[in-house]
Amino acid sequence: MEPRRAPWGRAGLAVCLLSCLLALPPPAAPSPCLEPCRCYLNTLLCQEPNSVRSLAQLRSLENFTEIVIENQTTLINLTLEDMKNPRELKNLTISKTRLQFIAPDAFRASPNLTHVNLGYNRLQFLSWRVFHHLRLQELVLTGNPFRCACGLRWLQLWLVGKQAESMGNQSLSCEGDDGVEIPVIDMNIRGCEVPQVWLEYNSAPMKEGMNATLRCHVEGQPPPEVKWSVPDFGGHSPHITYESASETTLQVFGVSAEFNLQNITCQAENEAGLSEGVAQLNVTFPAVIRDLGNAVEYHKWCLPFSVDGNPSPSIRWQFAGTDLEETTYIHTHFFLEGLRNSTLLHGCLYLDRPTHLSNGNYTLFVRNPLGSDSCTIFQEFMDVPDANFNLVDPVEIPTMSSSDYRNSTERSPVETLQEQPIGISVAVVLAVCACLFLSVMLIILNKCGQSSKFGISRSVALAQEEEMSLQFMNVGGGGSSSPLSSVESKLETLKTNFIENPQYFCNTSVHHIKRRDIILKWELGEGAFGKVFLAECYNLSPTEEKMLVAVKTLKEATESARLDFQREAELLTVLQHEHIVRFYGVCTDGAPLVMLFEYMKHGDLNRFLRSHGPDAKILDNGGNGQSFGQLTLSQMLQIATQIASGMVYLASLHFVHRDLATRNCLVGHNMVVKIGDFGMSRDIYSTDYYRVGGRTMLPIRWMPPESILYRKFTTESDIWSFGVVLWEIFTYGKQPWYQLSNTEAIECITQGRELERPRTCPSEVYDIMQSCWQREPQQRQNMRAIHHRLQALAKAPPVYLAVLS
Ligand code: AMP
Repeated sequence: MEPRRAPWGRAGLAVCLLSCLLALPPPAAPSPCLEPCRCYLNTLLCQEPNSVRSLAQLRSLENFTEIVIENQTTLINLTLEDMKNPRELKNLTISKTRLQFIAPDAFRASPNLTHVNLGYNRLQFLSWRVFHHLRLQELVLTGNPFRCACGLRWLQLWLVGKQAESMGNQSLSCEGDDGVEIPVIDMNIRGCEVPQVWLEYNSAPMKEGMNATLRCHVEGQPPPEVKWSVPDFGGHSPHITYESASETTLQVFGVSAEFNLQNITCQAENEAGLSEGVAQLNVTFPAVIRDLGNAVEYHKWCLPFSVDGNPSPSIRWQFAGTDLEETTYIHTHFFLEGLRNSTLLHGCLYLDRPTHLSNGNYTLFVRNPLGSDSCTIFQEFMDVPDANFNLVDPVEIPTMSSSDYRNSTERSPVETLQEQPIGISVAVVLAVCACLFLSVMLIILNKCGQSSKFGISRSVALAQEEEMSLQFMNVGGGGSSSPLSSVESKLETLKTNFIENPQYFCNTSVHHIKRRDIILKWELGEGAFGKVFLAECYNLSPTEEKMLVAVKTLKEATESARLDFQREAELLTVLQHEHIVRFYGVCTDGAPLVMLFEYMKHGDLNRFLRSHGPDAKILDNGGNGQSFGQLTLSQMLQIATQIASGMVYLASLHFVHRDLATRNCLVGHNMVVKIGDFGMSRDIYSTDYYRVGGRTMLPIRWMPPESILYRKFTTESDIWSFGVVLWEIFTYGKQPWYQLSNTEAIECITQGRELERPRTCPSEVYDIMQSCWQREPQQRQNMRAIHHRLQALAKAPPVYLAVLS
């Protein structure tokens, strides 16, 4: 079998590849290449005969992911000392050498190793311990003079068992005591069996402070060695008694709450292999509040808390001494349920746009059968306003008369809203205020009216802008004037999506990917959350060993950013459609936190359109084998139809995107287009956003009047944005209202002016755009109908269109 080689050939990529390795600083180390070895990117090749005596002589191998050593007759042993440098190693080939011995711990410092080729060496023996901790996908051992012995029993089991796939079709043989060579799978060694382990313990709930006794029974030949592994929380001094070769007892004195969900393991190993039995104690203890912090604000406010207890405590809240009833506007959310390794629960009491009416004491009560706890915090969200009243409906804190404890998920929002006469009357009052304000505004606007459909004058709209800034500030910030960081501002957008989509607050199980399975290649771009990299990901697909993915890193991992990260991941896990970019999962073991998406090789649609328009001189797409040239009408219609299809899906879920634009769509192979970003691209395309009140970035050029004026985002406002996306497609990625400043664009949109028909746009398509730009949201054509119209046009573009210049 040929040794594995690095698949990359272009040395020009070396710098980028090395500097992009996940969680590693850019390489500063000297070159590890010793003459006559050669280095390509992150691959070391030593093939010149007899030049390497031991790998320990090769320094600075930290970033190397592949090592190939061949033809080295001086290489005899392989130890941990040899292998401790290349910690990122994934592929190792040591072949055609005199290698006789591999120490059991030789690969302990190379946890990422997945492909090992040890073919054509001098190995007579090889312990299972060498590979035990690895997730090998390929192990090549052909051409070694193995001796049939119990120490190879594991290999025999691998060849026929679960690991058979990683062994391929190798025909491995060994030499028996009689000097005859037989296939390893036919080896029959007496008294050689992998140990078996049974754990005996009381899994019933036990109170904190009690003693636990666990008995481990083992069987196996040769007699196995037994080891216990007990989580070390200090002060428990587990006591182990070896009663006989086949039975040992572990006693843990005074068990504590920390033992819950932690593994206590009994391991038995012999030459043939290893087995283990795992137990978890169920230690009960009273409900307790570990933390109740001050509210943190992004779009919603979160009153963070941590509670503990076994059984899990029920929780309830009081506001200003009265029981608080949960609704979609104020509700408890727990994080990472089901992904926990302790009984500690973290959560937030979320408040959607609280006002001064929400200021006051919040008391958290927790209870389980063993006890209860409570804690109060005073929270001020906003100063009491004077005459300047916020137009967007504030959230009244609903309270309950019943003092029953109830689980926060017990009630549906519908039920709870019906029981809110005070909340409803406040909403009615506010609606009346809003109507009055609107009427006054329209009268003023009509008075100053010019030629626009809605008669809003330039000067009034400009004056309004200042007003709007204040409104937005109040709405999003609850009166706080501290500006959000760029990441927080993007998180805010994401969270707003959630607010309008409360059904996504479920605990969707997010797929977790191991960091060692991700190899970053190079940077694709930068979004608000952090850099986006192209990466190879192992073990993601059952059919492919590795696949290309786009990895989004989270640059600021504050506790709340982490929580938002988790929530976004939950949302993305739910959204699955052929025209929504595929989300594979997250990697949270270590920093930075990353999200993995399907790689879309042509990047974002806006850039794609610009580079395939009349202005793009070189119609080359980077040598990836697909050249589209200037986009044809039919291709533009196909692009539009695909986005429409994704939007039909989002609308069917009542998911409001709020930031649909070509910069947030991605283009993949064969011009497959997918909606690929949910509010995270504001840094690169910062001119597409308008900063309002110093904090909120709004894509005003894509927003309908009601979103600009009242910050109302709905499925219908997404339809308006879709019309603008159509316009972007047919202008090869021009910025809407490019000739106008932000304030002028606001004025035009609110006045009812429409974007002009692009030169290459047939009237049938412009009709669709105009149906999206109806001022009355309800009069806009729905997404499904738009999709059908585009589909029909894409199938049979009118003939005359082909001659449009
Ligand atoms: P974002 O943070 O999502 O706005 O991403 C920043 C940039 O990274 C985008 O403009 C794209 O060029 C690139 N990018 C993001 N996601 C992907 C992906 N799934 N495939 C390819 N490129 C991507």
